[in-house]
Order: sequence, then structure tokens, then C-alpha cells
Amino acid sequence: MPVFVAKPVFWSDRLRRSALVLLVAGLVLAALAVFGGLQPSRAIAAFVCIVAAALVPWRVHDPAASRETELGANPVETAAAYAIIAGMPDPNVLLDRAGRVIHLNAAAAQLVPALRKNELAQFALRSPEIVTALREAIATRETRRATYLNHVPVDRWMELIITPVPVPTAFGGIDHCMLLTFHDQTPLRRVEEMRADFVANASHELRTPLAALSGFIDTLQGPARDDPGARDRFLGIMHAQATRMARLIDDLLSLSRVELSAHVRPDTLVDLIPIVRQVVDGLEPLAVERQVEIEVALPSTPVMIAGDREELLRLFENLIENALKYGASGGRVTVSSMMDAAPDGVPEFRVVVRDFGPGIAPEHLPRLTERFYRVDVGDSRAQGGTGLGLSLVKHILNRHHGRLLIESVPGQGASFTAGFPPAQAVAA
Ligand code: ADP
Repeated sequence: MPVFVAKPVFWSDRLRRSALVLLVAGLVLAALAVFGGLQPSRAIAAFVCIVAAALVPWRVHDPAASRETELGANPVETAAAYAIIAGMPDPNVLLDRAGRVIHLNAAAAQLVPALRKNELAQFALRSPEIVTALREAIATRETRRATYLNHVPVDRWMELIITPVPVPTAFGGIDHCMLLTFHDQTPLRRVEEMRADFVANASHELRTPLAALSGFIDTLQGPARDDPGARDRFLGIMHAQATRMARLIDDLLSLSRVELSAHVRPDTLVDLIPIVRQVVDGLEPLAVERQVEIEVALPSTPVMIAGDREELLRLFENLIENALKYGASGGRVTVSSMMDAAPDGVPEFRVVVRDFGPGIAPEHLPRLTERFYRVDVGDSRAQGGTGLGLSLVKHILNRHHGRLLIESVPGQGASFTAGFPPAQAVAA
């Protein structure tokens, strides 16, 4: 990937000056040989010395001067090459053929503060993998790749690509600079890690009830074959485990459906109030079972938002069911609403589900919407939870351009607020 085009420079100022010196020296020596009696062999020897004196320093390695030569003696081209490197969004470093830094952009200086102009890059980059790749790229003039890891201030994974860049020299030959380009792979790595974690968690969650099911099947085929009492009990447990698996698969599918359509705003106008009421009515049997009273304080007038009815049902089901399951000891759950301004000043309609149970310790609050995160895994499983409910709630709210607010004082219960922008704000 050539960064610039440099024309061969055969007669640079320096070469022209050297030629002038040699011409004058030749004329003077010839005049001395013809008119001054200087022996021709001595005149030739003196001329050879002058030629050497004029040309050798010209090729002696002067880092700054040789870089000018490598980049083309034309200062406009050199400046253009530097400007291109400076303008690249990724960190970029240009090295000479010995691996010394010729130029680097601000992003590279920020990423590797130890990189200095005119110093060997390997002193700053140090990792054996990078040093080997750099040596190989210089020796073979082929592109090499390596990984650059940075742990400060946060972990970052960068792919380093070392590309030899052919540059015409002042003598009409070709030299090779090395262009180092860093590509940030951190977001990809994170997604990959999250995907792997997710698959591991989902498999684990499915394997647990599956193991219980096959254990009971073995028992029913063997020792409990002729025990009707044990059979009924075991079938009950098997039913609960199968329900849990079905629920997990349901939640996983819902989550992936919401994620797939995350970037598409729902465009149907729906009234939130009957949706919340329908959920409360549906959960009444659970409330009775848990001896919890649900108090509803919702407006009698419609509250229209742009929304997906099925997803909204799922959202409130999760919030109210959690309040009934985890906050049952408070004996009371309230479902209320209000109109207020969001932090950005836009008015939002809020539905607040509050319980008066044990509440949630502050350190758990920021992680509650992570997939499979549970304050108490045993308690969640005992309640038939999957650990995906609040993650689903968050995704549904994101799709509706809403937000979830979780507040809790341990010992005094928890409140979950779903805030929605009004229909006209979403349409805008
Ligand atoms: P689950 O399927 O386990 O209920 P959720 O994502 O819905 O998963 O909730 C995550 C965790 O948050 C629950 O396991 C529980 O520990 C905690 N939690 C949710 N709602 C409440 C609540 N109202 N009171 C106390 N803890 C709660």
C-alpha cells in the first residue's frame, strides 16, 4: 500500500554541487599538470582523493538526510506523505529500512508513548512477536502481522500490520520503508467473548434441568418402577423441569427476536394502560398464591406510545412477576404511572412497579440487566427464573427508545421504572 508517490531524483542540489566541485578540481589539477610541472600520476591520485571526499560523505548515513532521500528530495512530496500519515484515523508509524521511526501520527503517539522519532521502534514495541515480525518484514520485504496488547488504561487488542513501502532513492534505486498500521480489534474481541459466555451460560442452564429429567427417567425405569407414590412425585418434578426448559428457550428466542429488530422502531400506536392492566389481571393467580396484593393506580385516559404490543406485554410481565416472586415478603406490590421529564428534558411516560420485599444490594443494581445475572442463583431457579428477564426488558425498552430505572433500598423493597417517550417524540 504505497502512501505517496515520489519521483526519482537524479540531480539533487547536493549532487549538482558535488559535480561542480569535481569539475573545478579537475580543471585546476589539469592546469597544474600541464603548466605547473605536476606529475600526471600525482594529479590523477589527487583527483581520485577529491572525488572520494566529495562523494563518500554524501552516502554516509545521516538519518535525517537519508530520510529526506527515502521520501524523495521534493519537500512537497515529503510533507504530503507526512500529512497523509497524520490524517489516518488509526495509529500509523513510518520506519526507515533500519527500523527507526521517521514519522508517526498523534494516534500512534498516544497508543505507544515510548515511540520517538529517529529511535528504533522495537525499543518501544518490545514484544518478541512484534520484533520478529518487524525483522522478517524488513528482511523479506513482505507484509507481516502481529498482535499488540495494551493494558493501560483498559485492555485493548490491536492488530499490527507491517507493510513494506517501496520508495525510490536519489540514485534511481528502490528502498523500503516500513509502514506500521494498528487496527483496534477490541470491540470484536469483546463481542466474541460475550458470544462464547452466552453459549456457555445457555448450555449450562439447559443442561441442568435436562440432567434432572434423565435422572428421574432412569429412576422411574428402575427402582421406582412399581412405586405409584414416587412416580407421581417424580412426574411432578419432571413437569416443573420441562417447564423451566421451555421457559428458557422462550426467553432466548424472545431475546434474539428483539435484538434482531433492535434498530427498527415500532411504528404502531398502542395504548399502554390496557396492556399493563391485562398483565396485572393475568398475574392475579400468582399474586393470590404468593399472598401479595397488587395495587394499581393508572390513568383512565389512554396513553399512546409507538410500540409493539407483544413486547410490551412481555416487558410488564417480567417486571410485575419479579416483584411478586422476589418481593412477596412485603405482601404488597404497587403499579403506578406518572408523566415527567427525562434527563434530556423530553417528557416521558413512566410506569413504576414497586415492591416492599428485601430489596437489592447496591452492588448488584448495575449488573441486573446482564444476561443470566442473578443476585441469588438458587433463589432464581427455585422461582423458575432464567436470569434473562431484565435483559429482555432492557432490550425491549431500547427498541422503544425508552429507559429502565432500578432503585432499591435493602430491606425496603425495589422499584423498577419503565420510561417511554410519547408517540410524537418517537415519530419526530
Ligand atoms: P430471573 O429469571 O432470575 O428472575 P431477571 O433478569 O428477571 O431473571 O432478574 C435478575 C435477578 O434480579 C433476579 O434473579 C433477582 O435476583 C433480581 N431481582 C429482579 N427483580 C427483583 C425484585 N423485585 N426484588 C429483588 N430482586 C429482584
